[in-house]
Amino acid sequence: MSTDPILFFDLKTPSKRLRADIERRLNAILDHGQYIGGPEVTELEQKLAAFTGARHALAVASGTDALVIALMGEEIGPGDAVFLPAFTYNATANAVLMTGATPVFVDVDRQTCNIDPIQLEAAIERVVAEGRLKPRLVIAVDLYGLPADYATIGPVARKHGMLVLSDAAQALGGGQGNKRIGALCEMTATSFYPSKTLGAYGDGGAMFTDDDARLDRWASIRWHGTDAAKKESIRVGLNGRLDSMQCAVVLSKMTIFEAELEDRAGHAARYRARLGGKVMMQEGRSEDRHAFGLFTIMVDERDRVMAALKEQGIPSAVYYAKSLHRHAAFAAYAPAEPLANCDWLADHALSLPFHPYLTDAQIDGVCDALLRAL
Ligand SMILES: *Cc1c(COP(=O)(O)O)cnc(C)c1O
Repeated sequence: MSTDPILFFDLKTPSKRLRADIERRLNAILDHGQYIGGPEVTELEQKLAAFTGARHALAVASGTDALVIALMGEEIGPGDAVFLPAFTYNATANAVLMTGATPVFVDVDRQTCNIDPIQLEAAIERVVAEGRLKPRLVIAVDLYGLPADYATIGPVARKHGMLVLSDAAQALGGGQGNKRIGALCEMTATSFYPSKTLGAYGDGGAMFTDDDARLDRWASIRWHGTDAAKKESIRVGLNGRLDSMQCAVVLSKMTIFEAELEDRAGHAARYRARLGGKVMMQEGRSEDRHAFGLFTIMVDERDRVMAALKEQGIPSAVYYAKSLHRHAAFAAYAPAEPLANCDWLADHALSLPFHPYLTDAQIDGVCDALLRAL
């Protein structure tokens, strides 16, 4: 029996698998010397577009930059309302506030952990009735890798003249029906932070759209707001580039990404078979393809369960212990209405060890330990 410790994430095994390929790609960059804007950047963008089915992909410096550039590309700013779930990573709200727009926090669904379309519509109607802010954009987060309900959110947003931006930082590789994340709404932002489903060896991110003009605006903003010749400043921009070396690493990771996604799906199915009927788990709908960036359950007495797991040598983690409207930086934007499901998930959500390199025996070990701990 294996005595390998159970890891929450495993960032080393893929590096071992890909070491020779990554070294070859990095050496090629040392030879050509184009550390910024090398051929790896366009190669990665083409492969990402082909992978997702989006017409265009743009590599950027981080998932946060992807969100900020998407908002800047629509000229979102002061006086604008951007709707987002309160149960997400702080980057989603930071991106909104960095543009000067106002975040409007919306409650989520307990089962999907994603923005609740009914609560979204109610929040939009309140903002319209108040007449102080202009509804401009909805950011739907694909939490833990599960796509938000785009088929319902899209029409709600359009009815009020808004676009939808997917914060798919945790969800690259997921999909809905026969479409993949990147092609589910007008704009998508993702992250290559090392522990995300497709991780770089440092920071990175990407953006997706089908719209040619939008891509041009994003590419300009990414490069200090310059024109296509990179001479004239035509808008406010920033340095949002992804360097050639990180692109090379992500290109290498893409050679095993489909296989890793299959392994993630298989591991999730094993967890679900062992825990079904015994533990509440994040649940999508039949058309959803969960990317399983994280495998998350909901338990009572979470701290006690975590401690009991830890005692049995099993790591677990909480994403997120507080909803954003409960954080000091965002408390000023807490809505008058309670965000009951966000608060409930903040008390109950627990993510179990999850990565493509778990063994069946390890998954069974986590499940046995969890069921003992409940
Ligand atoms: C990781 C993450 C981000 C930010 O991505 P970075 O690459 O770390 O900037 C944004 N939103 C969500 C939901 C995330 O999980």
